[in-house]
Amino acid sequence: MTIFKKIIDKQIPAKFVFEDEQCIAIHDVAPQAPVHILIIPRKEIRSMNEVANEDQNLLGHLLLVAKEIAKKQNLHDNGYRLIFNTNSDAGQTVFHLHLHLLGGKKL
Ligand code: 5GP
Repeated sequence: MTIFKKIIDKQIPAKFVFEDEQCIAIHDVAPQAPVHILIIPRKEIRSMNEVANEDQNLLGHLLLVAKEIAKKQNLHDNGYRLIFNTNSDAGQTVFHLHLHLLGGKKL
């Protein structure tokens, strides 16, 4: 079980920004920017490599949630970055799919 599954199950704490039936959003514990939020599907998917056609709506949902959070964090005008790290060359460390939302400075 990954650390994110434990956070989803509320077995370990995290700073929640948002949650609904499909995903949660939390502040990253080691932020790389003034705003660094992770949008994490409740469904356990290891990485983008394991995403299936049936996950199309879920992926769209994660992006729409990220957009709404970016707006609430006042990032929409200055801009922000959305990233899915996949496997070792991208530096993926937690093998439960997650979307990074980064902003609040010139990246
Ligand atoms: P990855 O490198 O896999 O794309 O990103 C994993 C991210 O999860 C990293 O930015 C790391 O700081 C964050 N992270 C790892 N463990 C925890 C944790 O227990 N709580 C929170 N909030 N973030 C975590």
